[in-house]
Amino acid sequence: MALIVRIDVDRAYGRRPFLRHVLSRLSSDIYFPRVESFGYLRELKVILQLLNAVRAPSYIFFRRCTLPSDSILGMIHMGGHKIGLHLENSRSFESFAKEKAILERHIGKPVVAVSKHGSGKAKYGFHHYAPYDPDNYIRWAQQSGMKLFLGNLEDPSIRPSENETGFRVFPSAFWLEPAWRDTRRFTIDWLRSEALLFDIILLIHPENVLADESLYEDFKCLLHLLDTRVLE
Ligand SMILES: [Zn+2]
Repeated sequence: MALIVRIDVDRAYGRRPFLRHVLSRLSSDIYFPRVESFGYLRELKVILQLLNAVRAPSYIFFRRCTLPSDSILGMIHMGGHKIGLHLENSRSFESFAKEKAILERHIGKPVVAVSKHGSGKAKYGFHHYAPYDPDNYIRWAQQSGMKLFLGNLEDPSIRPSENETGFRVFPSAFWLEPAWRDTRRFTIDWLRSEALLFDIILLIHPENVLADESLYEDFKCLLHLLDTRVLE
């Protein structure tokens, strides 16, 4: 058993400094081009360098405003990582299918994994539909030939399921960022021992983990101690 690393790429230009925060918002809500010299997906690049150095294949979920650049695609290919859809506009099957098509057209191949942007409360950006309805995403994903849904519940002891067609659901994740984790119950030590027995999703957002030295240390330590794997 192993860690299944899930990276949700929420921000095109990170959060800092303020100008990059503004570019992230512009990219999300209106439009801003992918400019590497302004630091497009800079935080994801740092995380991918680490993952590739320790040979830790992972899932990387992209929004329509954080589509991978050529250099990021090269790193993903090198590391054997999988690309997933970070679903934003979940109003209907049609809006889901449209986002899936945008990502697939961009990377030139089918996408079989999906996660949802936001857990049902706040609205994050112009295209974002806030409610969290995992049953819909699971149904739509199966209808369109996908294989895997990674959910946003915050109790990482909830076990995954697999149906007769082989579609897998992990309802929950171990969120590395403490804002979404019961840090007394689900400690780093808990994860270390539990991931030896079960597959556990470890969820990170690059800009948050890199902004906090101790979180980044925890992440590096977990990658050194545990194997990671991708499912298909
Ligand atoms: Zn997100």
